[in-house]
Amino acid sequence: MRKVAENLERIKQQINDACRNAGRDPEVVKLIAVTKYVSIERAEEALKAGIYNLGENRDEELLKKWEVLQDKPIWHFIGTLQSRKVKNIIDKVEYIHSLDRLSLATEINKRANRVIKCLVQVNVSGEESKHGISFEDAAGFIEELSKFQNISIVGLMTMAPFTQDEQLLRSCFRKLRELRDQIREKNWAHAPCTELSMGMSNDYLYAIEEGATMIRIGTALVGEDD
Ligand SMILES: *Cc1c(COP(=O)(O)O)cnc(C)c1O
Repeated sequence: MRKVAENLERIKQQINDACRNAGRDPEVVKLIAVTKYVSIERAEEALKAGIYNLGENRDEELLKKWEVLQDKPIWHFIGTLQSRKVKNIIDKVEYIHSLDRLSLATEINKRANRVIKCLVQVNVSGEESKHGISFEDAAGFIEELSKFQNISIVGLMTMAPFTQDEQLLRSCFRKLRELRDQIREKNWAHAPCTELSMGMSNDYLYAIEEGATMIRIGTALVGEDD
């Protein structure tokens, strides 16, 4: 496996190029290393390379890594979250990217003893296999979340379809950005909604050009254990 630092070097360069193309400041694009496929040692290597935001999509795996790394990284929970698992991770994570239903919000709000930064996951592509609230229902859902004191909606998240079709990918990202802008304009106190979590190994350059503020990269950055 290539060193994380080498991958990081290359990815940073690409982030800079994409930002230049789009007239954006690279400083506002937060890189999250998705460590779900790799060992604790590899996650530590990412930390040593200067990546402080780590993403995991399963509670068991996050807890295993947390035992060793504790709160050295900023932990992002990026996967589908069952309500009964919330209590396991709530004190460990800074961000939850996968809020997509009221029952989950109720549980997060109940279990948290501080304000949790949440992103609402939106199923922009409408693919049945994808989690997330539908595009049409997202704004109404976010409005309803104002009743939860321990939840701040800091942004929106999506997973694009797995495709190389540039137009399809860009249109998916653009729609999420437009939705983010609409919600931001409402000035809801509980939903500053500045972040756009979109872009993975396959599509992050397009995502950045379309406005991503958080990219979630696994394979291209920390690789996959075999
Ligand atoms: C696995 C995963 C990623 C990273 O995927 P790569 O293609 O390996 O970069 C990003 N976001 C979510 C929600 C994931 O589950």
